[in-house]
Amino acid sequence: MKVIIDNQSGFCFGVVYAINKAESILREQGHLYVLGDIVHNEQEVKRLTQMGMEVIDHGKFRQLHNTQVLIRAHGEPTETYKIAYENNIQLIDASCPVVLRLQNQIRQVYQQMKHQDGQVVIFGKSNHPEVVGLRSQTNYEAIVIQSIEDLDKIDFSRPVALFAQTTKNLKLFYQIVSEIGKRMKQTMGQEQVPFQYYDTICRQVSHRDRELQNFCKHKDVVLFVSGKKSSNGKMLYGVCKQVNPNTYFISSPEEIDFSWFSPDDTVGICGATSTPQWLMQKVKDHLKKKFYVE
Ligand code: SF4
Repeated sequence: MKVIIDNQSGFCFGVVYAINKAESILREQGHLYVLGDIVHNEQEVKRLTQMGMEVIDHGKFRQLHNTQVLIRAHGEPTETYKIAYENNIQLIDASCPVVLRLQNQIRQVYQQMKHQDGQVVIFGKSNHPEVVGLRSQTNYEAIVIQSIEDLDKIDFSRPVALFAQTTKNLKLFYQIVSEIGKRMKQTMGQEQVPFQYYDTICRQVSHRDRELQNFCKHKDVVLFVSGKKSSNGKMLYGVCKQVNPNTYFISSPEEIDFSWFSPDDTVGICGATSTPQWLMQKVKDHLKKKFYVE
């Protein structure tokens, strides 16, 4: 059996930044609160927990005083900064710089839209932490759409500013852009209503689509490794499955069913932007227990 790990898969720089920050504090202090899962990968969370990381939710965060808390790559809503200030919590802000920039951009456009009676629309998953943080910049007035079916939430006779959660699918984003344009024309005829769209999809993710498509093409079986909670993982798994129907989604080596393989298969191992390289290596090692791996 030939087993190839995709060297393009693995953490994006936003996640690397947050994990490095957490690790260096844990090495020094042996304990650190992190608000929410630092990365949507159970195995990596387990590893850091063993180093002393304590994952807390927003309920627990509100009760803390005079301590340190790390904010993960997805960013946080404005209330988190307010609570930290009131409770004398030192925030170690490991929000991804790309997400922080997007938060600022949405806040500015929201102010403009208010003057024009316009609407800020975010293409994303409504309960995703990044989207919650983005909506907070608009006083939670931004409309969240997950698909074309949700477009009825928009009033097409008023101005629209469209953004995207950083991990969304690029193709779908542009389909939404074109559909909004069409519906505005249908509603308003010749009268022009401002429509601005901002392609805020992170290229660390959107380029991975194409890279993964190439990687999956000439493999007999593909193992896609990702945490079950990762939306980026689900999306990229879909990309792989489309190119190669023999693609399996696994979160840990133990989920592998050896009946998926023949001894002379070429197997590809790849993953999401939240999948650690060490986990993909463990998956390869697991295959070695059953097959002779070249
Ligand atoms: S996917 Fe992009 S925006 Fe999201 S954390 Fe990674 S680098 Fe940042």
